[in-house]
This record gives sequence, structure tokens and C-alpha cells, in this order.
Amino acid sequence: TTQDLLGAQEIRELADMLGIRPTKTLGQNFVIDPNTIRRIIATAKISPDETVVEVGPGLGSLTLGILDAAKDMVAVEIDPPLAEQLPATIAKMRPGSEARIDVVLSDAMKVTELPRTPSALVANLPYNVAVPVLLHMFAQFPSIEHALVMVQDEVADRLAAKPGSKIYGVPSVKANWFAEVSKAGVIGTNVFWPAPKIKSGLVAFERRAQLLSDLPRQEIFAIIDAAFAQRRKTLRAALSTWAGSGARAGSLLEAAGIDPQLRGEKLDIHDFIKIAEAARTVPA
Ligand code: SAM
Repeated sequence: TTQDLLGAQEIRELADMLGIRPTKTLGQNFVIDPNTIRRIIATAKISPDETVVEVGPGLGSLTLGILDAAKDMVAVEIDPPLAEQLPATIAKMRPGSEARIDVVLSDAMKVTELPRTPSALVANLPYNVAVPVLLHMFAQFPSIEHALVMVQDEVADRLAAKPGSKIYGVPSVKANWFAEVSKAGVIGTNVFWPAPKIKSGLVAFERRAQLLSDLPRQEIFAIIDAAFAQRRKTLRAALSTWAGSGARAGSLLEAAGIDPQLRGEKLDIHDFIKIAEAARTVPA
């Protein structure tokens, strides 16, 4: 049928035809299992009226699934041969659908404009840059209301971690600035070519209906970075450089109602916002 997805044989044939050897530096692990694609698409909850942005379409495994579920889409790919091949793959596998997809040859981390306005992000992200790409997309494209991404399983856990847990950190808090985050499944290694060493995880994001604060995001993110740069230090110590002095860090934390002896890993995004707000009122 025309709704066929790409399996192991098709992926290898495409790679051979293009003379492609998947590269680690670009995080190229291609999904060769149609059932995994169906599972990602079902978990992504794409409605038929949506415009989806996919980062890193690769040879098009997930792209075809997205195209079947969405109104239209944009695919942002950094690797020229892959970006160039994709329209031909779409034309062959989904004749008549070519106009529903734009392929953008670009580094997703640097992309500032897209030819369509996406309401969702669905991607099997390149592992080495998964978190910065994800945060960039949420920051750059406020139209993205929800997302479903596949990342390394431990990164998935970290993104969805709650305050107080060992793996809670910068990605968890920053992702929480943009969205409600939840882990949405684990994917084994054998559904990829080449097979990665570690399992993958699915993470779902629902963008917050309202910004949590009117302060510039950068002000809040700078505090998050400082608090976790030295995880083992108390907040008072960790924030002293950022605040100008340990004494000011202490008074800012007190003004925010936060115990200066705590460590950053105990604070949620709302606490970091309180600190940023206090910094606006407590003189340097
Ligand atoms: N979506 C395909 C799949 O599931 O089979 C490929 C996923 S593969 C894990 C990651 C893809 O992201 C590769 O196609 C790679 O070339 C691309 N990529 C890597 N870094 C990128 C970047 N900074 N911007 C856009 N695409 C990137």
C-alpha cells in the first residue's frame, strides 16, 4: 500500500544509493522498524489539522509517519545529502504529498524562521545536541504547543525529573519553564541502524498556556545555570558570583523565601523565578 513505512531493507537501500555511512557526530541512528514509528506517532497525539516540525528527518522513517498524521510539515535537516534526498523519498512513498512538506537544509540550533508555522515538534533527535535543540525550538517557535521527542533514555529521564531526584538538573528546570514534561516510553536499541549502545526514551511536552513570569527568560536561565554549575554547593555559595557577593545571594534567597543552605536540586522552576524577581528588587 502507499501507507508503507520504511523498514530495514528500504533504509539500507536508500543509504547505499546515497553512499551514506551514518555518522556519530551527527547522531545518525535511523529507525528501521515501522512499529516503532507507529508507536511514536500514536504517542505524539498529532491532530489532522496540525503543522508539525521535525528535526533531523534523516532518511525519512519518521517523516512518513508524521506526514500521514498531520496536515503538513517542515523537516529541518543539517546533512545535505539527506535533505536533498527527502523530497524524492516522499514523492515515491507518498505520491501527491510533496506539497505538504518543506525540507529546510539547516542546523536546527540556528534556525530562526520556518516556512510554515508549527503547532507541534516531533523528532528522533540527534543525541549529542538533543537538549539544546529542544530548548532552542521551544524558545524560537512559540507556536509549538506540544512535542514528542526521542532521546537517549537517561536524557529522557533527566528531562522529566522532579526536584530532589539525583538526575534533576538544568535540562529538567529549563524544559519546565516551557512545558509540562513527562516520560512517554522506552525504546530498545535494535530498532535502529546502526544500533546505539544505550536505550532511547520518549518524552512528551505540553507547552504552558501562559508564561510563568514576565521576566526575560535569560535572567531566569542564568540563575539556573549558576545554581547547578556547582551542584554540591549551597545555593548561597553557588549564586554568590551571579549575585555579586555571598551576602547579596543570601538576602536575595531570603527575600524569595528560600533557605540559602539548600542546594539547587531542591528548587523547581517557580523557585528560580522567585529568585529572579527578588534580584530585581534587592539592590546590588
Ligand atoms: N528521523 C530519522 C529517523 O528517525 O530515522 C533520523 C534520526 S537521527 C537520530 C538524527 C538526525 O538528525 C540525522 O538525520 C542527522 O543528520 C540530523 N541532525 C544532526 N544534527 C542536526 C542539527 N543540528 N540540525 C538538524 N538536523 C540534525
